[in-house]
Amino acid sequence: MIYRRTFLKTLGLSLVTLIFLPYNFLHAITKKIINKNLSKDQKNIMFNEGTEKPFTSKLLKEERNGFYHCANCGAKLFSSSSKFDSGTGWPSFSEALPGAFLTKIDYSFGMKRIEYHCANCGAHHGHVFEDGPTTSGKRFCNNGLCLIFVPDN
Ligand SMILES: [Zn+2]
Repeated sequence: MIYRRTFLKTLGLSLVTLIFLPYNFLHAITKKIINKNLSKDQKNIMFNEGTEKPFTSKLLKEERNGFYHCANCGAKLFSSSSKFDSGTGWPSFSEALPGAFLTKIDYSFGMKRIEYHCANCGAHHGHVFEDGPTTSGKRFCNNGLCLIFVPDN
């Protein structure tokens, strides 16, 4: 009986692995470096899930109207109208443009967080939290190095 239970338990774990394996695999192959001029820091954040030091992004002080694009593929991700000062030291937004990102649950550092990636190139951008100050209730905490701001006109 004990052997049978162990066997079933092992089988159960294998099934879990089988279910999640294709997802992880797809996730890995959809990431692609498009901008050959990305810096070492940008590559570390976008393709190795790194994080830039807080209060280092020039975009924290950016207040002009325009759009924030993916530094890797150029996809439009955020409108300046959704940007706000969260005080965290990273550029923060209350909402992303529709379809801009895909999300994934990140269990690193003993926390459960929702990580988001550019839907077009798979590059990691940041984490989204449910404590935003506006009606969306969301706070997209984005690494500034992953973004390129394009002002209107
Ligand atoms: Zn992208």
